Amino acid sequence: MREYYQGRLIATVGDITEMSVDAIVNAANASLLGGGGVDGAIHHRGGPAIMRECREIRRHSFPKGLPIGRACITRGGKLDARYVIHTVGPVWKDGKQHEDALLEACYRNSLDLAAGHAANSVAIPAISTGAYGFPRERAARVAFGAIGEFLYRNTVPRTVFCVFYSIEDYEIFVAEADAILQAVSEQE
Ligand code: ADP
Repeated sequence: MREYYQGRLIATVGDITEMSVDAIVNAANASLLGGGGVDGAIHHRGGPAIMRECREIRRHSFPKGLPIGRACITRGGKLDARYVIHTVGPVWKDGKQHEDALLEACYRNSLDLAAGHAANSVAIPAISTGAYGFPRERAARVAFGAIGEFLYRNTVPRTVFCVFYSIEDYEIFVAEADAILQAVSEQE
């Protein structure tokens, strides 16, 4: 476990479905109708109530699917978390299709929704780095920057957990985060 930003960003290894936080973020797909990876794990453990709400959201708000970079919220079903925030990351192509900006929007819009629901603790997975193929170093830089920026401007959520499924992914994130902070301190 490693802490940044006065303990408001905590990087850790684990299964996000087991986190006891106010909200967890799901790396969903546009259909909101389930998928593999972290999405499958969340619906499996959270039970069918989450999917029912997702279908309602599709029907009422996003008949064509949730756009990339946007986020929506459901309750957490059987999870410890009160809410699940569903966001759709960009599929990595070549880095020239606005992938960074879209991934940044996922983090910003997810945290915005969390704040709007007074969620003080939020757990976020490494969006887009699984099936969607985003290079993990680059995704770590985007995530660390976007979360840091949000925390700087907002008091809620108080704490954001970046939850990595493997130690390797965690170590990549920590290395990138440390390098960013090092570069900042050298500029000062
Ligand atoms: P995407 O389609 O956005 O790439 P994936 O679910 O395929 O989403 O992967 C996103 C990240 O979530 C990957 O780093 C993957 O290892 C991780 N992951 C998968 N299952 C879990 C889980 N239960 N808890 C936390 N992270 C997970």
